[in-house]
Amino acid sequence: MRVLLLAPPGGGKGTQGARIAERYGAEHLATGDILRAEVAAGTQLGRHVSDVLARGDLVSDSIIMALVRERVIRASKAGGYVLDGFPRTVDQAVSAYALHADVDISLQAVINLDVPAEAVLERMRARAAVQGRADDTEDVMRHRLEVYAEKTRPLLDYYARRGLLVSVDAAGPIDELTASVFRVLDPIAEPELVH
Ligand code: AMP
Repeated sequence: MRVLLLAPPGGGKGTQGARIAERYGAEHLATGDILRAEVAAGTQLGRHVSDVLARGDLVSDSIIMALVRERVIRASKAGGYVLDGFPRTVDQAVSAYALHADVDISLQAVINLDVPAEAVLERMRARAAVQGRADDTEDVMRHRLEVYAEKTRPLLDYYARRGLLVSVDAAGPIDELTASVFRVLDPIAEPELVH
């Protein structure tokens, strides 16, 4: 399974990404998680990106491509991947396409978790209360939504034009959303790989 999840921040990519990965034996590749792990470990990359993450801005496309390239290729050769948080710009999507073409693989589906902005803010507030992420303050949350609208939402058009986009209503309970996502993905999964 090679699938990409799109959603605004707080839209539930992480939870759904993990569930998809488990069901179809794919690797959950979440660039936000990878970047936060680098920050937590205090690596050179982590020190370089920590302010960007805390502000809610995007890390540069070149850093992201360097981070994901080998992981995407490796996962494609194994059980596939669920991309969560990448690509986040049209330039990243173009680079992702080139990288796939280089190794003769293709994305099978792009799922857009469709959630209204107000619901997203509520979810981010709830997460902030539990996790206290550095980028979950009110101002940063709003900024992340603006960055999403400007830089990431154009990907909906980009993938729709390529016939890959499926939008699912993500405003309801998490388990219902998972069921909707599985209904989309089951028909394109190889039956013996569905858990
Ligand atoms: P996320 O956990 O997906 O919400 O990502 C958290 C933060 O990591 C984002 O606000 C960005 O600062 C950074 N980030 C994650 N993925 C990307 C990406 N593909 N391109 C640029 N920045 C990213």
